[in-house]
Amino acid sequence: MPSRKRAAATGSGRRIPVGVLGATGTVGQRFVQLLERHPWFEVIEVMASDQSAGRSYAEAIGSRWKLATAIPPDVAKLRVRGPGDPLQARILFSALDASVAGDLEQEYARRGHLVSSNARNHRMDPKVPLVIPEVNRDHMKLLDLQPYRNGGGLVTNPNCSTIVIAMALAPIHRSFGIDAAIVTTFQAASGAGYPGVPSLDILGNVVPFISGEEAKIESETQKILGRIGPKGIAHAEFPVSALCHRVPVVDGHQMAISLRLETRATRRRILDAWEGFRPLRKLGLPSAPEAPIEAKVEEDRPQPRLDADRAGGMGVTVGRLRPCNVLEWKFEALGHNTIRGAAGAAILNVEILVRDERI
Ligand code: NAP
Repeated sequence: MPSRKRAAATGSGRRIPVGVLGATGTVGQRFVQLLERHPWFEVIEVMASDQSAGRSYAEAIGSRWKLATAIPPDVAKLRVRGPGDPLQARILFSALDASVAGDLEQEYARRGHLVSSNARNHRMDPKVPLVIPEVNRDHMKLLDLQPYRNGGGLVTNPNCSTIVIAMALAPIHRSFGIDAAIVTTFQAASGAGYPGVPSLDILGNVVPFISGEEAKIESETQKILGRIGPKGIAHAEFPVSALCHRVPVVDGHQMAISLRLETRATRRRILDAWEGFRPLRKLGLPSAPEAPIEAKVEEDRPQPRLDADRAGGMGVTVGRLRPCNVLEWKFEALGHNTIRGAAGAAILNVEILVRDERI
């Protein structure tokens, strides 16, 4: 699949310059970490709020850096740009707080930047792709409907729980059709950003409320599993009911999922559908896992501490598939919320755009 653009990205040693919006937050730090050794992309700009702007990234972030690896030296010395400042990189990864992401991301798209966003603001816009490359890469065609010129555009990845759910459901939906789904989540503390949930609320506790989360899971899943036509996305019609909980886990969102199917399935055929789900194999995308879904056979897996980091945090792990007495089948699913559920997802979205020569 040699293309000049991809050859430039992968072959010549020249990496594509990129910027990170909201670079000082939980997801922003993940972007900076994941992009440090990325073979195609190189961080040349970082942007955050006025309280960080004007200082070096290392100074602005100070003790808020929460990852086990050091701040990459080339990024540590970058001067943090403020909201709306002019930026050079065509590709911008956004980890902006939702209170500001809506307007700022649109403004950068208007200026000709391709913005790959984690924020919720534009996910349900009918002209904005909400994409998991393994599941609905064809939805990137929505970029053609956007009003932006000079290469500008907006692409989003799903909410950190939705991404795990939609990946686990996609092969089942394709093979058997899903009629109804009930999802109960157990979501890590890092999903709330930093400082996030106060320690006295979360330590030794379960909080059965995450603002807006249940509605996001219910609507985003239907958009992702919908079909694209000339007029946009026809959302999947099966109902999804979500019950969300914050739990004292650092990283890794776990879900218990029950399904009713449209056609008859067996346990073996569902396991085969997961096992055979390798749509990006052979594309050579740096962030795409060889096996996006792994089904564990042990009766007590998946678990966040043991499985969230699989495939560099980009793998979704499922397990405990068994009959459900109310619907038909039930199982557990798990994914890393700041990697597969956020920064890694946004990076993979741009990798597929480069591979498909859309940018
Ligand atoms: P966070 O830790 O609170 O970080 C927010 C970032 O936004 C910081 O870099 C902050 O900069 C910046 N920011 C805040 N106000 C700003 C303004 N007025 N102008 C410019 N920048 C501003 O949040 P997070 O957890 O990383 O989440 C970031 C986004 O990703 C959110 O939209 C969230 O919903 C989404 N998301 C998060 C997760 C997760 O697991 N955490 C998963 C999926 C999606 P300063 O440091 O300068 O204040």
